[in-house]
Amino acid sequence: MKVLICDKTEAEAIEKMRAAGLTVDVRDDITPEELPAVLPNYDGCVVRSRTKIRQPLIDQCPNLKVIVRGGVGLDNIDADYARAKGITVLNTPRASSASVAELAIGFMFALARSLYQATATMKAEKWEKKRFEGEELGGKTLGLIGVGNIGREVARRAAALGMTVIAYDPYVSPQDVPEVRLVSLNELLERSDYISLHLPKTAETTNMIGAEQFARMKDGVRLINCARGGIVDENALYDALVSGKVAGAALDVFAEEPPSDWRLVKLDNVICSPHIGASTKEAQQRVGAEVAEKLIEFARAHGLC
Ligand code: NAD
Repeated sequence: MKVLICDKTEAEAIEKMRAAGLTVDVRDDITPEELPAVLPNYDGCVVRSRTKIRQPLIDQCPNLKVIVRGGVGLDNIDADYARAKGITVLNTPRASSASVAELAIGFMFALARSLYQATATMKAEKWEKKRFEGEELGGKTLGLIGVGNIGREVARRAAALGMTVIAYDPYVSPQDVPEVRLVSLNELLERSDYISLHLPKTAETTNMIGAEQFARMKDGVRLINCARGGIVDENALYDALVSGKVAGAALDVFAEEPPSDWRLVKLDNVICSPHIGASTKEAQQRVGAEVAEKLIEFARAHGLC
């Protein structure tokens, strides 16, 4: 089976695929303009988030049998269309869960103790000890919107810190998530001291946290979004941060990446990172290993290696 690696993939994973008998070509800097001429020569491809596999490209690749996305979301692939054309679409759903969960927990600590602002003032040679009275996470209520792989990892860590964890997720039942108490979205908004998002961006979830939802939240709530930009209405979040309704927000993801409007990022009570939730050595190694395993398994099952 011939495989094209379209995005950065661990060298060890590529070696593993070659050792299993796959023909692997690495073009991890391939451009969208080059893909239509190159991809039709392959049975399979590996993408991360950079390369987009959309309908017109799929139509140009009648030999394509499998697309493997190293990562969680499938937003960069027209997955339903590909599957309708008989192409198998696979991803690595759990490889980065712990890394994203740790970032969300790290953000909570940073918000609770104003670590970013404290660092910035000291770098400006200021000693503003009185300004930085923070709060403990223990004893606070964390509301998780979405309790899949990442939400559950966050829940376990937050419980260990002594937080009460509640969650809203209409697609899971209580026995699926014994680590949390499932509540309605309104109850979650009204009770939580911290709200962390761990759900996909879909038509249903786009802008699901807007002005009406902020109005329901506790005064001084803190919001963490390590899921996808656009689930939170950024204009409504901006207003809630300026009014002080939301005391602080930590954002790893943005409606537009990189943002063209930096107003939200520049607010004093916003801390942020450039979509690095899955960017750890460990997650990248797990993603690579899982991509290789899935491709080899696919090739063996179809007699292609
Ligand atoms: P998952 O599929 O395991 O869990 C997502 C959960 O969201 C599911 O339980 C689902 O039922 C729930 N959900 C769906 N629609 C919902 C709704 N309307 N309201 C409430 N819950 C809803 O996915 P995961 O691995 O836990 O990842 C969660 C999200 O994190 C992903 O969709 C992805 O967007 C994001 N992510 C971000 C990074 C990053 O680098 N920041 C890395 C990996 C994943």
